[in-house]
Amino acid sequence: MTFIDCHVHISDKYFFKRIDDLLLDWNEYNVEKIGAVATNLRESQRNLEIAKKYPSIILAGIGRHPWGAHKFSEQELMIFQGVAKNPEVAFIGEVGLDHYHFKEKERWEQQNQVFEQFIEIANNSKKSLMLHLTGAEEEIFEILSSSKLNVNFCCHWYSGSEKTLKKLVDLGGYFSINPNFKRSRKHRRVLDLVDQHKLLTESDGPVKFQGEQGTPKLMPLLCKEIAKELMIQPDNFAEIVKENYENYLRN
Ligand SMILES: [Zn+2]
Repeated sequence: MTFIDCHVHISDKYFFKRIDDLLLDWNEYNVEKIGAVATNLRESQRNLEIAKKYPSIILAGIGRHPWGAHKFSEQELMIFQGVAKNPEVAFIGEVGLDHYHFKEKERWEQQNQVFEQFIEIANNSKKSLMLHLTGAEEEIFEILSSSKLNVNFCCHWYSGSEKTLKKLVDLGGYFSINPNFKRSRKHRRVLDLVDQHKLLTESDGPVKFQGEQGTPKLMPLLCKEIAKELMIQPDNFAEIVKENYENYLRN
């Protein structure tokens, strides 16, 4: 049985400074693919470097996280537009909106602008989107549904309302689940309302879950726990997730 971790911040300095050792260690846990998300240009470039070194495991994502949207420059936008065409770029993310950590309306406008720019980059380069939606799930739905999106998108760590979840499902979204589903009713709800063929698994490392470090090492247990919830065999679910990941990345 092999696994997928579709959302890891491997270029975060916490991981990046010892990434070779970490990959060696994670390799013991049969994680076949790691989706490397980026929050800024520097991390995007690092992801490409790591993916070049470990092309069979690492899939490089590029993007600007909504937390830093207010610092996003015209010059950076041009670099991202160019880099996205690179065949080594596997997907666009982590991008999106965050109205939970940022309450100021001014920030929301900046986030919208940057998010729309990345949707355009994704559409033009035919690369799937990996989305951050915290507290802005409905706004994300509205922007996606009015943007003539022609690529797949994944809602990472969805914990919004059930109503918006259903709308995002209807829009064809993929949803990545992490160990938080055991504690969060809203995140857990994704398993009830989303078709198995739209589910992915993630650690969002280096985020911690109940003090435990999020890394691809959590995937075998996560897979087993989700399979139990879905009342299917873990190896069956692991196979489904691998197939889902391939479908998600293909546009
Ligand atoms: Zn993340």
